[in-house]
Amino acid sequence: MTMNEVDVIVVGAGFGGLRALHALRQLGKRVQVIEASDDVGGVWYANGYPGARCDVESYDYSYSFSPELEQEWVWSERYATQPEILRYIRHVVERFGLRQHIRFECRMERAEYDEAAARWRITCSDGSQWSAQHLVMAVGQLSAPKAPTYPGQELYAGQIIHSALWPKEPVDFAGKRVAIIGTGSSGMQMTPVIARQAAHLTVFQRTPNYSVPASNAPVSPEEDRLVKAHYRQRREQAWNSPTGLGFLPGKKSALEATPEEREQVYEAAWHRLGYGFALTYFDILLNKQANDTAAEFIRRKIASVIDKPELRDKLVPRDHAFAARRPSVDSGYFQAFNRDNVELADVRESPIVEFTEQGIRTTPKSHAFDLIIFATGFDAFTGSLLKPEIISRGGRSLREKWAAGPVTQLGVGTHGFPNFFVLVGPGSPSLLSNVMVSIEEQSDWFARMMVDMDRLGVVEAEVTEAAEQAWVAHVNARAQETLYPTANSFYNGAEVPGKPRVFMPYSGGVRGYRRLLHKCADSGYLGFELRDKPLAQGGQAVNAGAGVAHVAPPQGEAEPALPQAA
Ligand SMILES: Cc1cc2nc3c(=O)[nH]c(=O)nc-3n(C[C@H](O)[C@H](O)[C@H](O)COP(=O)(O)OP(=O)(O)OC[C@H]3O[C@@H](n4cnc5c(N)ncnc54)[C@H](O)[C@@H]3O)c2cc1C
Repeated sequence: MTMNEVDVIVVGAGFGGLRALHALRQLGKRVQVIEASDDVGGVWYANGYPGARCDVESYDYSYSFSPELEQEWVWSERYATQPEILRYIRHVVERFGLRQHIRFECRMERAEYDEAAARWRITCSDGSQWSAQHLVMAVGQLSAPKAPTYPGQELYAGQIIHSALWPKEPVDFAGKRVAIIGTGSSGMQMTPVIARQAAHLTVFQRTPNYSVPASNAPVSPEEDRLVKAHYRQRREQAWNSPTGLGFLPGKKSALEATPEEREQVYEAAWHRLGYGFALTYFDILLNKQANDTAAEFIRRKIASVIDKPELRDKLVPRDHAFAARRPSVDSGYFQAFNRDNVELADVRESPIVEFTEQGIRTTPKSHAFDLIIFATGFDAFTGSLLKPEIISRGGRSLREKWAAGPVTQLGVGTHGFPNFFVLVGPGSPSLLSNVMVSIEEQSDWFARMMVDMDRLGVVEAEVTEAAEQAWVAHVNARAQETLYPTANSFYNGAEVPGKPRVFMPYSGGVRGYRRLLHKCADSGYLGFELRDKPLAQGGQAVNAGAGVAHVAPPQGEAEPALPQAA
């Protein structure tokens, strides 16, 4: 079998891998992207369920690297649908000539670091083998769907579909009895759309979730012109905000405001800001009392649109702080339960006992379904990173190394794995930010590091053990300042049985994180050893920061990052 030689292997052709590919191609690197699926788009190719759309405004959830691209692309709605986002991704791929560098239906199964050669040896599902100096893991945070297995599931005669493995051909709901299991963002997005088409819809809910209305609307030509006239400013705001959204958060505490003032502020935010609602006051995610004021407002709002009193109690979230789990941005989710053909099955009250040939049996009754949809989410952050066998210097697997939870320096690399980069993974703002902002920031940083390595004659860059220990401690310390650890969520592994309970994303905000990334690079890559030869051949660190762990908390960064992403 031929060993194909390139400079960089990028794994994954979603928004992240494509952006990394473009940045590295610009440097003249020979880059090969390998993608398990048969097309580009990542989550936006996989999650074709009805109602799927972004929950960060499209003008912000889009690439900023090309002013021409920004100006020529026209978004039709404030929050674009999945088909429109996929069209955008395909347009970018064609416009920047990226497709020829991607190998599809090719899953990376194994990567092993060859210490003597200082190169990664990569083996894929299609039998291809690759040798590369650098390995960039752009495998996604929400790309490993998870689904429970119920007793009797194999007996069920109807169709089962996972929201994140949605069929490419249209699914016809007309006249069908449909079940949705799960009320996270995917379940909340699809419920009102399927309710309008199906004969009957039953939504199985475990945890009632907070949601803020999307207030989605078509983008008028005037609005488009206005955004594009000031696009740089809008981007600057996003880069300098805690979460990468295109507006500035409130500077005041919710507890300083009078109840009347709060009501006005919340009311205005409710009708326009989507996720931004959680940033109306800076301490909503920091202080339980401040959070209570927002949570109480939302509970009132949700209750006010639900007609049936017996459903209000069940649908209104009470058991966690607002936004401590990822809230949703919905378009008529709660109102869907006012329809006669929509039913709520509360599985906390009446658990699912088993699947039957006809459908699902819960403690009080048997339901018959033609179609059951699992909107049950993902093994977030580490699911796809830990699927392949990735073997370090010294023969240790990443799975083994991260058995108690992911350990990284700045979220970008891990000790023992030289020239190994993780894009928007654990230890970085990732799903606590507008992911697009984080993708671009990190892709450009990786590119900068590779340029610096070439300039300095460095063949191997490796995170030091001390640096990653310090970073993990810092990530935990920042999380403890917030309300995130108070809820069970996919931020801390609680959604997957047996997964280590570790808070994974960095909650210090995208602005603070960017400063740390740049500080690291400016200081000669503090926390990394840059070696002139492979360690195995007596390579020496050539940078001043070698072996030193130093993470200074950013100054004046009181605002935590906001939860994002479905
Ligand atoms: C329904 C949905 C809506 C979302 N909405 C938003 C939003 O509004 N705002 C926001 O900020 N974020 C959102 N997100 C989060 C989303 O994950 C990111 O915004 C972003 O799209 C991730 O891009 P990515 O390239 O990092 O990962 P992905 O899009 O997940 O792409 C990863 C790719 O890697 C491939 N891959 C994985 N393992 C391998 C392997 N071993 N070998 C080869 N290929 C492999 C996968 O097939 C996939 O194509 C959403 C997520 C979902 C699921």
